[in-house]
Amino acid sequence: MTRWDEAPYTCYQRLIEAYERLGLRRIELGKTLLDTPLVAFCRDEAEVQDRPPVLIAAGAHAEEAAGVITAWRLAQSPGFRGRLLFVPCRDPLGWDGISRTLGRLTGQGDLHLETHRQAVEAYRHWGEVIYQREGLVLAVVGPLAFMSLDPEHPGNADTGEFIQAFLPRHPDLVDALRGKRLLVPGTPRHAEGRSVYGWGGGPTVYVDESGRVGNFNRFFASETPPVEVAALRELADRVRPEWVFDLHENFGGGFGLYANGPALQRGAAVYRAMIDTVVAEGFPLNRLDDLLPYLGLPEGALVEPYPGVYSANPSRRMPPDAFGVYTGQMGAACFTTEMGLEQPLDYRCRATEIAVRAGVRAIETLWEEGEA
Ligand SMILES: [Zn+2]
Repeated sequence: MTRWDEAPYTCYQRLIEAYERLGLRRIELGKTLLDTPLVAFCRDEAEVQDRPPVLIAAGAHAEEAAGVITAWRLAQSPGFRGRLLFVPCRDPLGWDGISRTLGRLTGQGDLHLETHRQAVEAYRHWGEVIYQREGLVLAVVGPLAFMSLDPEHPGNADTGEFIQAFLPRHPDLVDALRGKRLLVPGTPRHAEGRSVYGWGGGPTVYVDESGRVGNFNRFFASETPPVEVAALRELADRVRPEWVFDLHENFGGGFGLYANGPALQRGAAVYRAMIDTVVAEGFPLNRLDDLLPYLGLPEGALVEPYPGVYSANPSRRMPPDAFGVYTGQMGAACFTTEMGLEQPLDYRCRATEIAVRAGVRAIETLWEEGEA
């Protein structure tokens, strides 16, 4: 339908094949369901060899597509003298979306689901509908669970936020989904002509054995995380990166980023370069005051050491067990980029790409100055 459909990143398998064609070293991290490999790619050829690779991860939440696309663009033309380690897509099943993942699960190929009715029919045909009320349908098909929403359902305002708030209020559903990944359709107004059941749809929701409802940027402090989280944790433990970029998107229409503890302590030159470049290129920032109402956090929960840079206020709040927090505990400075999903995807990609390129250039400068 659009030129996006021609690109390798619209299908996880094609994306990792495209990384391979760049000649990057493939690192197996594990496998999730449907025998789907979780992989990283290292660009070993680099002028600077005496530093750990800079880790660039993307795709924890499928709808935050600008991250996956930005990582791919950097892999194609790094413009960086150090080594780079890419995790192209942290959630392959969610990234591929409901149509392709359900199709793989049932041996049917891509099901090309377009409507709520088609999705529910497919769920009924291949599995068991466990909830159907007021336009929300949840179904279990083998080891996976799937969601669909009637177009009139208010949860369409943000499908991922909606279901993560809904499930904990329904213990019977939490019970039925224990240990399962729930594939969530995309938010219609962010789909830009794509099917909400297609690639880059809603963020996969994971319900762990204890009944905790979360997603793939949670569970990093869990003893029994999903393999998507465990694999990334092990990679970070092994590589011990000094610098990490985890590419996300969030509410609003501007750019911002979360800085973890080490990023606050020694990464000011990096986050300032990212923010200054985004502003100089004419992109808006999402200031902390703009963001807080969406997060439902009290004033003072986050601090803003620089415009558009957020960090957990250690005196006020326990930060979530996200990847950035996990890498912080090993001393790695992590910048979790957050572009505003209310902008068109192409625009979000440009903002995220210039920010990350400015960030890695600033790291290079710190290396040259012997300050990092
Ligand atoms: Zn995210």
